[in-house]
Amino acid sequence: MAVLPIRTVGDPVLRTPAEPVTRFDAALARLVEDMIDTMYAAPGVGLAAPQIGVGLRVFVFDCEYDPRDESVPRVARTVVNPELTLAADGELQDGSEGCLSVPGLHFPTTRALRASVRGVDETGTPVEYRGEGLLARCFQHEVDHLDGMLYLERLTGEVRTAAVRALREPPPSPERVQAAGDELRALRRTGS
Ligand SMILES: [Zn+2]
Repeated sequence: MAVLPIRTVGDPVLRTPAEPVTRFDAALARLVEDMIDTMYAAPGVGLAAPQIGVGLRVFVFDCEYDPRDESVPRVARTVVNPELTLAADGELQDGSEGCLSVPGLHFPTTRALRASVRGVDETGTPVEYRGEGLLARCFQHEVDHLDGMLYLERLTGEVRTAAVRALREPPPSPERVQAAGDELRALRRTGS
């Protein structure tokens, strides 16, 4: 059990396609445990292995998880070597998407409305999950991570421009917020 640091945008591991898992051993079980601990601690509803620096095709998810509601039971699921299938109807969704590896930012991102994943769990047992809405978005987002892609690359047009601009600007540090407040108060005192 360990909460591991999450790699953030700019780290090459997030740009590197992950390798299929071939050994279903204690090390894999441990990796999955650590990923689940790290996901809940973040808090997040999905996490892919490259986000903790491990280049293997593994992701975990719990899209019901709400850190503000203790009554929701935690049910984390694991997909190893996932195969993603988008629904044939081609229906899309346009909700806001964020990523633990791109902290503090969210952008409207077009995704398939329905999708499914097939793979195995950490013991090698076959699993299949079907999703709509947030769950389908989660599957697409996590499999993108395993292919070395961040959701930012899915953005187009003005949203993409806004994302590029936001990434160039570092988030305001507490010191900068404090300094701006002090400056504002000083201005008020001098009446200018
Ligand atoms: Zn992500």
